[in-house]
Amino acid sequence: MAESPSPARRHPGSPSPRHHPVVVVGAGPAGLTVGNVLRAAGVACVVLETETREFIERRPRAGVVEEWAVRALRRRGLAANLLERAQVHTECEFRFDGERHRFPYEELTGRHHYVYPQPLLVTDLVREYADVRGGDIRFGVRDVRLHDLDSERPSVSYLDPETGLRHVLRCDFVAGCDGARGVTRAALPSDRARTARHDYGVGWLALLAEAPPSSDCVLFGVHPRGFAGHMARGPEVTRYYLQCPPGDDPDGWPHERVWAELHLRLGAAGAPPLTEGRLIEKRVLDMHDYVVEPMAHGRLFLAGDAAHLVAPIAAKGMNLALHDAFLLGDALAAQVTDGDRRALDGYSEACLRRVWDYQEFSQWLSEVYHGPATGDPFRAGTARARLRRLFTSPVAAAAFAEQYLGTAARH
Ligand code: FAD
Repeated sequence: MAESPSPARRHPGSPSPRHHPVVVVGAGPAGLTVGNVLRAAGVACVVLETETREFIERRPRAGVVEEWAVRALRRRGLAANLLERAQVHTECEFRFDGERHRFPYEELTGRHHYVYPQPLLVTDLVREYADVRGGDIRFGVRDVRLHDLDSERPSVSYLDPETGLRHVLRCDFVAGCDGARGVTRAALPSDRARTARHDYGVGWLALLAEAPPSSDCVLFGVHPRGFAGHMARGPEVTRYYLQCPPGDDPDGWPHERVWAELHLRLGAAGAPPLTEGRLIEKRVLDMHDYVVEPMAHGRLFLAGDAAHLVAPIAAKGMNLALHDAFLLGDALAAQVTDGDRRALDGYSEACLRRVWDYQEFSQWLSEVYHGPATGDPFRAGTARARLRRLFTSPVAAAAFAEQYLGTAARH
């Protein structure tokens, strides 16, 4: 909950508060994009991050970036490295009933996906914000607290990791971009904001293998033993997923068991064998979603995973974080530079249209991926019907492609 930074509770000798138009909490894709948009508009801001720069530049997570997001990054001068180094994907492949089924989404829509690992994007965004645009970013901060969000004089305070002193940043607005485990979401009063939740009741063992991709596209294995996925991350690294029970212990998945299951669930007639490699990341993600509505309270505006978590079933989370960040950066810049509050007032609603659309698609896709392994013949049958429809109905295929690529004209 937000609280007032009483001077009496500040450490003696603590630096006196300074005023900043915007404080951004969290340096993930959302926070760094907001920071870059603000710097480009000439708005001063401070970004606070609990981890080190080295840590956030290496933390592996997403890889699929939608084409509209790349175009938006490019328009803002943030996509030079991405456009040079990212892979362009035009198809994906479903494997079920022992067969391979290519899904040519670019042919259907004229749009494609980019594959660019999240740590590379974060590295580019930090470099641009801090080194090129001269933005203020403070790493390793501790115990971030928000104060007086209902007032016209909010502030954010944190403990300096070296001195242990509490610093207070007075500001006009706070951008809460601190992800699913941050503190800003908790500052929304429960009687003003509602959190809608959904639990899929399944886990995914998320793996990174030191192995070249075994296909030129993303693979989805829909199998009675559970879902399996294959996604290139670079020439020598591939992300794999294996459906498992929620809360499963990753140590129960030694190298041999992982590769045996991947071969089985991704196996199909005529498919080249998977190239095995050392597993450099192995963790279990419980598949669940939440959405906070509205995504704002007083002077606090949430963006990205702080406001909504979408399980990585349809690779949408980072794309939503970028979408929020473009809208929030522009809205804050309009307010701070021109006193125009209209975009800030409509911010939450404008984000939530795309958020709910992506949540619905993830839920639909979850049933396709997980239905056949439920042991329930009815759910297995309807999941297969959904899958087959993609390859028998051009209208269903086009609708799927639009959602997969996030290209619906109006969100
Ligand atoms: P984050 O990236 O979580 O950034 C929040 C930042 O805030 C972090 O740096 C954190 O250290 C910092 N922080 C936390 N607490 C505080 C605090 N109190 N004070 C200050 N800083 C704080 N999405 C896709 O679009 N495509 C994909 O292919 C995809 N694959 C994924 C695969 C996996 C295995 C996982 C886990 C996620 C995947 N996602 C994918 C989701 C995507 O990674 C997230 O949605 C994305 O990171 C959200 O960005 P964000 O900036 O909102 O939050």
